[in-house]
Amino acid sequence: MFNIIEYDQPDRNGKFGIYGGRYVPEILVPALRELEELYSEVKKDPKFRVEFQNLQQKYNCRPTPLSYAERLSKHFGTGKIYLKREDLNHTGAHKINNVLGQVLMAQKLGKTRIIAETGAGQHGVAVATACAKFGLKCVVYMGEVDIARQAPNVFRTKLLGAEVVPVVSGSRTLKDATNEAIRDWVTNVKDTHYIIGSVVGPHPYPMIVRDFQSVIGVETKEQIIKEEGRLPDVIVACVGGGSNAMGIFHPFINDEGVRLIGVEAAGLGLASGKHCASLTLGRAGIFQGMMSYLLQDDDGQVSEVHSISAGLDYPGSGPEHSYLKDIDRCEYFSVTDEQALEATSLLARLEGIIPALETAHALAYLNFLMPTTTKDQIVVVNVSGRGDKDLGTIVEYLRDLST
Ligand SMILES: *Cc1c(COP(=O)(O)O)cnc(C)c1O
Repeated sequence: MFNIIEYDQPDRNGKFGIYGGRYVPEILVPALRELEELYSEVKKDPKFRVEFQNLQQKYNCRPTPLSYAERLSKHFGTGKIYLKREDLNHTGAHKINNVLGQVLMAQKLGKTRIIAETGAGQHGVAVATACAKFGLKCVVYMGEVDIARQAPNVFRTKLLGAEVVPVVSGSRTLKDATNEAIRDWVTNVKDTHYIIGSVVGPHPYPMIVRDFQSVIGVETKEQIIKEEGRLPDVIVACVGGGSNAMGIFHPFINDEGVRLIGVEAAGLGLASGKHCASLTLGRAGIFQGMMSYLLQDDDGQVSEVHSISAGLDYPGSGPEHSYLKDIDRCEYFSVTDEQALEATSLLARLEGIIPALETAHALAYLNFLMPTTTKDQIVVVNVSGRGDKDLGTIVEYLRDLST
């Protein structure tokens, strides 16, 4: 059985075991060091904490509720299911938790220009939102393919006053947008802060994003103890880069009785090769500034990946997840596009909540998990976001099914 008295990661070099680190061009090292130093200061600064908490409560919607899902629990007839409602955050997903923290830090660094990359557009919208609120110039890099399939979020981002730069290199999706953002940062690092949207990239990003997202797990712990008088037996979250999962998992890592389950996108099926299950089928490699599990071919070329949900469509995942997998503290499974779509309509019909397609992956895993639970057990699912942005994709799929 897993037994760590005190979990304290990453180490001083920004490593989680062999993962993480800082594999970047020399020119970015001073900016990363500066960010790391500032972070170690603000982390201890009660004034920063109050500022961050005020923003979370009065601009975002925190604390988000932990809701007992009565009809969904009855549907399975075994354990009790609770939903952590990150879909109720301002802008519709957990992404803004991290963005608000990083924008406050950018201001302290005296940076006046913010850049970001986005796939589904949720991170782009969150960054544009925070930049509007604080009067910062904002540039969002987005692949041409994603711009076409996520038009409403592109429009939202522009309406919020940000510039959206189409990326036409490579597969014209998230990983290419990230490369372009890094290129911009190298050129403009003096006045520009790069807000990474998940627990990925070079140190200190995976640690900072995790800590800002940990508000999810901290609240969950308080709320479940108030509601049930004890900790849950299992926590389930979807994993793209891994930030909503790390956010809810992290405060529970030392609670060895709590199972922590991450669910990846199996796309068209693991055997099809069209998926993004990097923790399930990948192997260690260096990508976008970090060492982590990565989907790659025999020559180390990063694989083309697929998921119905643009927010999971990424060939790697965060270094801390790689570490937690290797030490057997977290478990990782995957579900297909089709299973995620079924789970979307199940939650909609039973609980009146339309989840994001990313979130639906975590919900779909309940089909496998719940039959193994007993009536007195408690399961928490992190509802990372709401499904409004996915309606176009869902409608198209259902139309294909009926013809
Ligand atoms: C971006 C996104 C994800 C995936 O990102 P993580 O960093 O793995 O959390 C999951 N759910 C929603 C709603 C998203 O917008």
